[in-house]
Amino acid sequence: MCPRSRDDAMTSSPVDCEALIIGAGPAGLFAAFQLGMAGVHAHLVDVLDRPGGQCVELYPQKPIHDIPAHPAITGEQLAARLLEQAAPFDPVFHFRERAETMRQNPEGGFSVGMASGLSFHARALVIAAGGGSIQPKKPPLRGLDAFEGKSVFYAVRNKADFAGLDIVIAGGGDSALDWALELAPRAKSLTLLHRRKEFRAAAASVRRMRAMADAGQMRFQLGQLRGLIGENGQLRAVKAAHEGKTFDIPADRLLLFFGLTNKMGALSGWGMNMQGGQVVVNTENFESSIPGIFAIGDACIYPGKLKLILSGFHEAALMAQKACTYVHPDEHHAFVHSTSSEILAEKLKERN
Ligand code: FAD
Repeated sequence: MCPRSRDDAMTSSPVDCEALIIGAGPAGLFAAFQLGMAGVHAHLVDVLDRPGGQCVELYPQKPIHDIPAHPAITGEQLAARLLEQAAPFDPVFHFRERAETMRQNPEGGFSVGMASGLSFHARALVIAAGGGSIQPKKPPLRGLDAFEGKSVFYAVRNKADFAGLDIVIAGGGDSALDWALELAPRAKSLTLLHRRKEFRAAAASVRRMRAMADAGQMRFQLGQLRGLIGENGQLRAVKAAHEGKTFDIPADRLLLFFGLTNKMGALSGWGMNMQGGQVVVNTENFESSIPGIFAIGDACIYPGKLKLILSGFHEAALMAQKACTYVHPDEHHAFVHSTSSEILAEKLKERN
């Protein structure tokens, strides 16, 4: 499903909205639905060029097993279903926009500025920015940028793109091990390159990797990346070193999994109480220390917080019950189930 996205290139005056959601990950997408149910129309901004947050950016084709009523659903499928669910409320998406500045308006509401110069006036603000913009950690390899996006990647968007090729995966965490196990059966060759014998990944994955390596289904190589060999962005091999010896490993594709840097960036200077880079919230309604600004999903912190997709869904539901009081202060707000929501029934009728 294609979300309604807006091309703001020609827009110079602020975009007026009831609620502005910063971040179109799973929490932000479900917030658009919950706000809709509470009678609030939402705009969403995201630095990325598509909705889905970490699920789509980092593990689009991996099955997630702990979404209630979905024994297995990929990150990509989950984002598509969330979009479909929010669609009756017609949320407006603004991609490739980074929220940077926030000012409280004397007459109420907030002005939020994007790095591009675009700005929004919103009655309620929902921070669903995860850990901030998602940036992979990069090794200091000369000429790396010329290969990025062509034969060197930081995520797997489509497993089929790796079939029948010589693949090197560098790293020792869960992503490196998971993708090594997943891609080895379809690759021409797969080498997992890690600088030490110990792994940060789950012990069960390490055991499976070692068993596959023993069976000749993939290779495990101790060593550190030293260079990239190839031309015009296409790799032929990677150069690695271990115990003073340098060697080449044939590679059509290199996957780098050295972790992520997630930075809240400018948002953490907006004046809300923060703890460890996350927004401190009241768990009754997920409001921050600034009335009218809410935080949900990985962006928020409270005692017992679990960074799980389902936590973000719960947080979005409670947030919407309070956010609507800022958008429509003169209206009576009563909680309704989706099964008896007249607003939702009306929207669904309009679409059919
Ligand atoms: P995100 O998904 O991080 O989305 C935040 C969005 O905000 C991003 O799109 C980002 O670009 C945008 N953004 C950030 N800053 C700004 C800004 N200033 N301006 C505009 N946009 C901004 N969870 C589970 O429940 N089950 C699992 O099995 C599971 N597996 C996982 C596997 C991996 C490999 C990883 C990395 C995570 C996994 N998680 C899992 C965790 C789950 O993905 C996160 O909890 C979830 O994505 C958080 O959702 P969110 O919407 O809060 O944030």
